[in-house]
Amino acid sequence: MTSTPKALRYAIIGAGMAGVLAAIKLKERGEQFTVYEKAAKIGGTWRENRYPGLTCDVPAHAYTYSFEPYAEWRNYYATGSEVQGYFEYVADKYGILPSIRFGCEVVSTVFDDARQVWTLGLANGETVEADVVIAASGVLHHPKMPDIPGLDTFAGKAFHTARWDDSAQIDGAKVGLIGCGSTGIQIVTAINKQVDKLVHFQRSPQWVMPVPQFEYTDEERAAFRSNPELMDAIRYNEEYIGAIKRFTDGVTDIEGPEMHEIEEVCRQNLENSIPDPELREKLRPNYRAACKRLIYSWCYYEEVQHPAVFVETGRIERIEPTGVRMQDGTFHELDTLILATGFQADRFIRPTTVLGAGGISLDHVWERRPTAYLAVTLPGFPNFFMLNGPTGPVGNFSLIDIAERQWTYIDQLIEQLRSGHARSVVPTQAAFDDYETRRVAAAKKTIFGSGCTSWYLDNEGVPATWPWSYDAFADAMAAPVMEDYALIA
Ligand code: NAP
Repeated sequence: MTSTPKALRYAIIGAGMAGVLAAIKLKERGEQFTVYEKAAKIGGTWRENRYPGLTCDVPAHAYTYSFEPYAEWRNYYATGSEVQGYFEYVADKYGILPSIRFGCEVVSTVFDDARQVWTLGLANGETVEADVVIAASGVLHHPKMPDIPGLDTFAGKAFHTARWDDSAQIDGAKVGLIGCGSTGIQIVTAINKQVDKLVHFQRSPQWVMPVPQFEYTDEERAAFRSNPELMDAIRYNEEYIGAIKRFTDGVTDIEGPEMHEIEEVCRQNLENSIPDPELREKLRPNYRAACKRLIYSWCYYEEVQHPAVFVETGRIERIEPTGVRMQDGTFHELDTLILATGFQADRFIRPTTVLGAGGISLDHVWERRPTAYLAVTLPGFPNFFMLNGPTGPVGNFSLIDIAERQWTYIDQLIEQLRSGHARSVVPTQAAFDDYETRRVAAAKKTIFGSGCTSWYLDNEGVPATWPWSYDAFADAMAAPVMEDYALIA
């Protein structure tokens, strides 16, 4: 084995929150990297989602890079456009924008066994080489269109929430909103006072965790600027960190006190917030709290009681040119139809073609379910690292924190290459098989597998998530177990 330090070429796919993070970290090290971004701007999910009411349901001071606290947040929970502004500010401040190729979609990435390099094929026909590929292409960015008969016959505007149509009639209009995940719920709270009528189609009503929302004053922002420790005090607030810990403990011990407490808080929220018994029963889920991603809201139950809102929990029969027909024959006449129907969460880097060692295809490896060793690496795919890849932690906490921890882990693996100790690093099949067997068994026992539909589930109904505590994830990411990796000289 050689131990001469080696200059590596890095390709980062995607300039969302995770790709920007990787770029900053590599720039700090003085490394040669290029970020390939198919869109014209950075931001990923925060660029694509512009729907009214979009708010990040992680406290703003916790939804920042740990190395770049931000004094300017206006509220405890930030709006989507503020979050997008934060990422643009950080990317500019850290000088990574010149290293991003915008409008540059990676359509394939193929590993050459003999030379131990990746060749990336770009949509413009160009090819580029990289020693290391960082897949930071996001989880929730391929919209899932509902399979409802007649959707294409609707005469008004019908569009997915991640493709918001600014020309659609909302003011004074009869609007239909299909879907009540975090997106649909936030939209209700934003447009209910603008519309003539809002029919919210809720196939599976949601549990709602009450949270506080408040504005930061100019004085508080000034104090944050002069003393960043005040921001850390919010980010690392014992109550907030404790709530994350209790949440993940509850997720993994579904009859334990933490989960029962979460359920009770949500149940009380429903009982105490909705006086009308008919509406209350419509809004009562028939599955356990936190089985689907919990809605965190300070105003949903209040806003859904606005007289313009009608909650429809019946089954949709079909969409007709002028509205939505229910199975019981009810017809809702509509001008505009908003599809808050979620994302194809099993796509990850795909449709990019990824061919690893020996030509093995990612599509083939992920035929049964997308997965990765500790959510980061895959046997057969040397020097290929995923940020927010499959089987990572999900819940109501910051994906930035998750990506930063994953970067800490990935960076230590890359050090094997940088130092010249190896040309490639790849997890062993045995380590992966052991992880995946334990993960699937544990995932079935989490609250996510307790009997509901959600984007967390793979197509066999197994939660595609990290099934252990947040502390266990933090421990796993602190340092790779090198015995679980093969180093190829
Ligand atoms: P989602 O949670 O997957 O919800 C999709 C909704 O559409 C569900 O209510 C689903 O009903 C409904 N639906 C899908 N197909 C349907 C059909 N054919 N007929 C009727 N209803 C249909 O999607 P999302 O609300 O966009 O949220 C996805 C994730 O994005 C969230 O869980 C969260 O991780 C993230 N997000 C985060 C924030 C934030 O503040 N940080 C905000 C928005 C989104 P069923 O439940 O019955 O399937």
